[in-house]
Amino acid sequence: MAIDFRKVTKTYPDGTVAVDEFSLHVPSHTCTVLLGSSGCGKSTLLRMVNRMVDPTSGAVLIDEADVATTEPVALRRRIGYVMQEAGLLPHRRVVDNIATVPRLKGASTAEAHRRAHTLMEIVGLDSALARRYPRQLSGGQQQRVGVARALAADPNILLMDEPFGAVDPLVRVELQRELQRIQTELRKTILFVTHDIDEALTLGDQIVVLKKSAEVAQSGTPQEIVEA
Ligand code: ADP
Ligand code: ADP
Repeated sequence: MAIDFRKVTKTYPDGTVAVDEFSLHVPSHTCTVLLGSSGCGKSTLLRMVNRMVDPTSGAVLIDEADVATTEPVALRRRIGYVMQEAGLLPHRRVVDNIATVPRLKGASTAEAHRRAHTLMEIVGLDSALARRYPRQLSGGQQQRVGVARALAADPNILLMDEPFGAVDPLVRVELQRELQRIQTELRKTILFVTHDIDEALTLGDQIVVLKKSAEVAQSGTPQEIVEA
């Protein structure tokens, strides 16, 4: 599924113009990276796709349909979302964290658990961790659970907001490799936010460099960005 931002503006109630007339085509089955320093509007852009934030003007379209016409809850069930804090439910075991969405969609507990185990394998988590609680995992393992949970809905679109920003550099590289491997197989439409140029160059099919209020400073393939 493709995503289109059409002249979107977001002004927060306090007057902050987080995004100013931003337009972008995010092609299907590719990874587009939004690269920019803190506060330039990256998270706001991402959150407009699954309607955690609605634009003040302009529109966000998924396969030509304005997201404003879809209920936020329905939208979030078909769009995966991964943040810096994995956002796991602390009192549920790993397997149940991942199984939550399949359960919501009507799968039996057994089916949902089978799906969760498959996803754990996809993201490189040992099945022995299934019965642990999130706090019993390392930061990197928690992020893997976050990715597995985002994939649990079988979404076409994956929104990733600095998903590997809080883990140490070596683990971060491992997680990037894992995501590349997953992407080779699953070919999701990924919108990935980071302020790390190396991460952008590693993961992006397309990189969009942003300045304040999400003004596009530069965009292109990693090669084009490096050569510019
Ligand atoms: P980034 O993800 O690039 O760090 P954000 O989209 O989080 O940027 O924020 C862009 C700007 O909007 C920042 O100046 C931030 O402080 C402001 N902002 C973000 N969320 C809110 C909010 N809920 N209310 C007011 N200002 C906000
Ligand atoms: P992120 O890790 O995505 O950059 P932030 O730390 O920018 O998140 O923001 C965390 C939360 O606080 C978000 O829900 C965001 O909308 C809100 N927020 C960020 N900046 C402001 C602000 N200036 N005023 C009010 N809320 C804000």
